[in-house]
Amino acid sequence: MGGAGAAVDWDPVKKHVVIAGGGPAGMMLGLLLARAGSHATVLEKHADFLRDFRGDTIHPSTLELLHELGLAEEFLRLPHQEVRELNAQFGDERLKVAEFSGLRARYPFIAMIPQWDFLDFLARHAAGYPSFRLEMQCAAQDLLYRDGRVGGVKTTKGDIEADLVIGADGRHSTVREKAGLELVDLGAPIDALWFRVSRDAGDPPETMARFDRGSILVMLNRGDYWQCAFVIAKGTLEPLKERGLEAFRATLGSLMPFAKARMSALRSWDDVKLLTVQVNRLRRWYREGLLCIGDAAHAMSPVGGVGINLAIQDAVAAANVLWRQDFSLGRLSEVQARREFPTLATQRFQVLVQDRILKRVLGEGDAIRPPLAVRLLTRYAFLRRIPARVVGIGVRPEHVRSPVRA
Ligand SMILES: Cc1cc2nc3c(=O)[nH]c(=O)nc-3n(C[C@H](O)[C@H](O)[C@H](O)COP(=O)(O)OP(=O)(O)OC[C@H]3O[C@@H](n4cnc5c(N)ncnc54)[C@H](O)[C@@H]3O)c2cc1C
Repeated sequence: MGGAGAAVDWDPVKKHVVIAGGGPAGMMLGLLLARAGSHATVLEKHADFLRDFRGDTIHPSTLELLHELGLAEEFLRLPHQEVRELNAQFGDERLKVAEFSGLRARYPFIAMIPQWDFLDFLARHAAGYPSFRLEMQCAAQDLLYRDGRVGGVKTTKGDIEADLVIGADGRHSTVREKAGLELVDLGAPIDALWFRVSRDAGDPPETMARFDRGSILVMLNRGDYWQCAFVIAKGTLEPLKERGLEAFRATLGSLMPFAKARMSALRSWDDVKLLTVQVNRLRRWYREGLLCIGDAAHAMSPVGGVGINLAIQDAVAAANVLWRQDFSLGRLSEVQARREFPTLATQRFQVLVQDRILKRVLGEGDAIRPPLAVRLLTRYAFLRRIPARVVGIGVRPEHVRSPVRA
C-alpha cells in the first residue's frame, strides 16, 4: 500500500476495502466492515461533515438498524425532533397523508437530525474499531488497475491499493464515471429550491407540504427554523428570478402566512439553493474489484425524502455480503440483486408522484383540490400505512447480518 495508506501497519492477510465518499452509505459500510474485522478506509473529500443541507431525515428503518448495532439509544440522546405524521394542504383543505404510529416499528417516527451529526456519530463509533480508517480531505480522482481489475484509487493524497473499491461518492460520483458504468436516466420534471425561515413559538408544529395554484412548498420543522423546499418545474429558475425576489417572497408569504413577515430574511438569491433533481440508476453496479452503492448507484427524487434511507440500506446489504472478504463478481452481483428491486420500486413510486401530482399542481393556475388518491388516504386510516411504510421503512428492509469480529 502506498500514498495515503502507507502509515498503517495492518494484518497483510486481511483484504482492504477502500470506500470513496463519507456520506451515509460510505460511513455506514465502513463501520460495518471494520466491525466485522475487515480493513476499511473511507475517503472523504471535505475537511468535515458540516456542509450544505442535504437531508436530515433518519427513518424508522435506519433507527432499527442502529438498534441492531446497539447504538439507537445513544443516537436518540442527540438533539432531534420526532416526526410522527405527514400532512398536506391542498388549497384550504388540510389532510393527514401518512401516520408512522401505525407501523410495526420499534421507533415509529422520523428523527430529524442534522446529517453532519449523524455522520459524526457513525465516524465516532467506527473509529473504535482498529481496522477502520477515515481520510478526510482526500478525494478519489481515478482508479488504479491490477491484473485487469480495479486494484485501488488515485487520490489527492496519493495512491491507495485496495482489494475492493466502493463508489459511495454520491450522485456526481467520480468512481462511477472512471469505472465507465452505464447510467440509466429516468428524468425528473421538477427541481427544488432549499432555504431556511426562522420559526416562532406560535407557528404550527407540523412538518407538511402545501399545494396551491401552481406552487408546492414543503416545510420541515427543525426546531428554531423551518427547512423549506419550494418545488419548481425543471428549468424555470431563471424566469422565477426575473420576476424578482420580492415576488418570490410574496408567493412564499401566501403559502406560509404565519411567517410572512419573516420572509425578508431571504435577502438575495444566494440564500436559496437549487437542487437539480435527478432520478437515475446504474444498469450494472459493479465490475471486477469495484462496487457502487447509495446515490452513486441511484440518485433518488426528493419525493418522500428517502435517499439517506436507501443509501444506508445499500450499505447494510453490501456489508452482509462482503464481510466474508469474497469480492468475486458473483458476490458483487448479489449486492445489486438484493438492492435493485427496492431502488426500482421506490423510483417508480417517486416518478408516479412527480408526474401525476407535482407536475399537475405546478401547471395549475386555479385553486387546487386534493387528488382522489390523497382523499382516500384521509378517509381510510389503513391506507395511510402505505405511504408511511414506503417512506418510513421502504421496500425490502435490511437487517445487520455481518458479525462483530473486531
Ligand atoms: C438539498 C438536498 C436535500 C435532501 N433532502 C433529503 C431528505 O430530506 N431525506 C433524504 O433521505 N435524502 C435527502 N437528500 C438526498 C440525500 O442527501 C442522499 O440521497 C444521501 O445523502 C445519499 O447518501 P450517499 O452516501 O450515497 O451519498 P452522499 O450523501 O452524497 O455522500 C457522498 C460523499 O462523498 C463525498 N465525495 C464526493 N466525491 C468524492 C470523491 N471524489 N472522493 C471522496 N469523497 C467524495 C461527498 O463529499 C459526500 O460526503 C437530499 C439531497 C439534497 C442535495
